[in-house]
Amino acid sequence: MEDIFAHFGDIFGGGMGDFGGFGGAAGGSPRQHVNKGTDLRITVKVTLKDILNGVDKKLKIPKLVADPHCKGTGAKDGTAFKTCPRCHGTGYITTVRQTFMGAMQSQSVCPECNGEGKIISEQCEHCHGSGVEKKEEIVSFHIPAGVSDGMTLTMRGQGNAPRHGGVNGDLLIRIQEEKDSELIRDENDLIYNLMLDFPTAALGGSAEVPTIEGRARLKIAPGTQPGKVLRLRGKGLPQMNSNVKGDLLVNVMVYVPENLSDAEKAAIESLKDSSNITPSESTSKRIFSRLRHIFNKESREE
Ligand SMILES: [Zn+2]
Ligand SMILES: [Zn+2]
Repeated sequence: MEDIFAHFGDIFGGGMGDFGGFGGAAGGSPRQHVNKGTDLRITVKVTLKDILNGVDKKLKIPKLVADPHCKGTGAKDGTAFKTCPRCHGTGYITTVRQTFMGAMQSQSVCPECNGEGKIISEQCEHCHGSGVEKKEEIVSFHIPAGVSDGMTLTMRGQGNAPRHGGVNGDLLIRIQEEKDSELIRDENDLIYNLMLDFPTAALGGSAEVPTIEGRARLKIAPGTQPGKVLRLRGKGLPQMNSNVKGDLLVNVMVYVPENLSDAEKAAIESLKDSSNITPSESTSKRIFSRLRHIFNKESREE
């Protein structure tokens, strides 16, 4: 059972939903109002793996539910009602006001019965007339693959029950994406920054990179340059409601040693004048032209 991050105050604070206004001319019948419970808001944390595959969640959620003893009405046995004495069962009251333009008539929802036309004659003893009780309910739902941080899923009718019967509010589930320790999300793509040691970059070899579903081994070609981006197709995240899948992009950096022993210094020193160590002008141009994020003369002239 996961912890949820909703405040009890938010959950139980609400009252009636919106009342319908009055349509038409004075004397017309009031529009049927729907008594709606308040919405519940929860936040659910998801990992990249949950986003990759989708995930089923089961949460215990404290909420207001209709009291079964009075079927949510608040009246004893759900039947102990009488006609509202203030509006005589119409649900609205008419007020006449004298103004310089003459008599003005206005209508409003009867405050005595909240527009219901009837009031409780004997309260339900279980809920003391509210029609609701606080209860922890287990709610199961599916979070689809491809969701992203801040998205809200709505479950209609899974929120609080209203006082004195009506329609339940909704359950609003906010997605909170847990940051991965190694992979960075960029929409459907994932990014991993790989630091290669100089010998592997120069001689070739392999490197281990993380994916959502475990580690993968990448082949490193001899002469791999820093700034190169290796693309693992389809190893990213799915687009919601589609078959499109992102890639895993591996940004290659090459580590230039910072602290060298005398022996290491001597070894590198010995390579310094070797013919293949220093790039020619055309080699530099070729490498820079392949790095899209670096400005160079060729790309600017395009
Ligand atoms: Zn009334
Ligand atoms: Zn009751």
